[in-house]
Amino acid sequence: MYRFSRAIYRELAPEIASPDRRARTGGDHARVLRACEAAVERLATDRHYFARPARTLFNDIRVYFPMSAQYRVYKVVDRYMRFAKEYFSTRPLNGYDIEGNRLECRATTRRGTPCQRTPLPHNGYCPSHQHLAETEETVPLAA
Ligand SMILES: [Zn+2]
Repeated sequence: MYRFSRAIYRELAPEIASPDRRARTGGDHARVLRACEAAVERLATDRHYFARPARTLFNDIRVYFPMSAQYRVYKVVDRYMRFAKEYFSTRPLNGYDIEGNRLECRATTRRGTPCQRTPLPHNGYCPSHQHLAETEETVPLAA
């Protein structure tokens, strides 16, 4: 999954304001890469509660770029976060997330315990709790 964050970083690295890349290892370049990784990881593991991934990542890294690059940075972030979101939401679901944790339906049963059935990929609810997804407030997909 880090191919997404690495791809974002590779496209953005030349725009990072810090002048000398080698002298700043562990500096702004590393911080941008880490922010990209964190955002992609969150998208992969917590997609249903991550409403505006592109906007969030952009806000995290925009300070490392000059004003003149801000628009391009946002476009790159937005494009890759869309790819990543699409990728994570269309992967065949085998009951486990990318980190090997068992996936469980997001609903709570009437007895107040978490529903343990396998959720559907597009909304995180199992087949018998699909009605809950419809009542949920819809979050805008685009940032
Ligand atoms: Zn359920």
